[in-house]
Amino acid sequence: MTARIGVDVGGTRLKLGWIRDGDVCGRSVVGVGPDARSAAGLVSVLAAEVDAMQHRFGAVQSVGLGVAGVLSSDGRRVLQSPNLPWLDGVALVDTLQSAIALPVAADNDANCVGWGEAMVGAGAGAPRQVCLALGTGTGGSLVLDGRLLRGERGRGVELGHLCVHPGGPACGCGGRGCLEQYASQTGIDRMLRGLGVSDGENAAFRVRRAFDQPEHPAHAAAINAAGRALGVAMAVFSRWLDVPLYVLAGGLAAGADQLRPALDAALWREGVDPDAIEIRVGTLGVDAGTIGAALLADAPRGAARLS
Ligand SMILES: [Zn+2]
Repeated sequence: MTARIGVDVGGTRLKLGWIRDGDVCGRSVVGVGPDARSAAGLVSVLAAEVDAMQHRFGAVQSVGLGVAGVLSSDGRRVLQSPNLPWLDGVALVDTLQSAIALPVAADNDANCVGWGEAMVGAGAGAPRQVCLALGTGTGGSLVLDGRLLRGERGRGVELGHLCVHPGGPACGCGGRGCLEQYASQTGIDRMLRGLGVSDGENAAFRVRRAFDQPEHPAHAAAINAAGRALGVAMAVFSRWLDVPLYVLAGGLAAGADQLRPALDAALWREGVDPDAIEIRVGTLGVDAGTIGAALLADAPRGAARLS
C-alpha cells in the first residue's frame, strides 16, 4: 500500500490529492495568494499544505508536482512558466525536498494528466498512447514503450502546437494553425465568434452552449472544425509513431461523441482507418493531474545510452 501526494501547481490555485494505490482519498485546494507569489513563498505554502494533508490523511512516501510550464528534462528545475513567472529558473524539486524531507518529483502538468490516465485511467496498461487534454488550451502527452516522452529540454511533445492547418490563425506559441486554435475552449470560441456567435458572458458559456445546442449551424461548424483538427493530429501520430490509443481528457472530452463524426471523417481523408485506432475518454476527470503527479515517483526517468 503506497500513499503519495500529488499537487497540480497552477497559476491561480494549488490542487492537492492524497492518493493511495491510484485512488484519491483526500483533496484540498488553496489559492495562490500574494504570499505564494515568489519561489520561497510557494515552497513554504506547499510544505505547509503537504504537512496538513499528512496530519489529516496519514504519512506519505513521496510528493509529485504537476507544474504549468516547461521543466528541465530531469524534472528538477522549472525553465519557464508563463502563469507562475516567479518559478522561472527555480530548482523547485530540490528546494521542496529540503523543506519537507520527502522525495519530490515534478513534470509538466499535461504530462501528469497523461501519465495518470496511462497508469490507472482510461489508458491503463497500454504501452503506447497519446493523451490530449482539451481544456482552455490543448495539452498533450505521449507514452511510448511505457515511457513518458520528455524531450531534450523537457518540452515534451507540445501536441497542442502541432500544426494542423498551415497558414491558419496565429497562435500564442508563435506558430500558425496549431491544434490548440481549434480543439480547445479558446479555439472553439474563436471560431464561434468568427461565425457571429459572440453573445453570452464568456468563452466557457459559449462553448458549453455550442455542445448543448449542436443543431445551430454555427455551433455545428465550430464543433466539426475542432473534430477535424483532432483527426488530422491523430492521423499524424498514427502514421508517424503507430500509436494505437488516444485518450481524450479535460473538460471538452465530455463532448467526444459530438466531435467523433468530423474526427473520423478527417482520419479517413488522411488515409487512416478510424477502426485501426482506439479513442477513449479519460476516466480520472479532474483528478487526472494530481493522480499523475503523485505517480511520477514510479515513472521511468532518463534514456538508454547509445554506445
Ligand atoms: Zn501554437
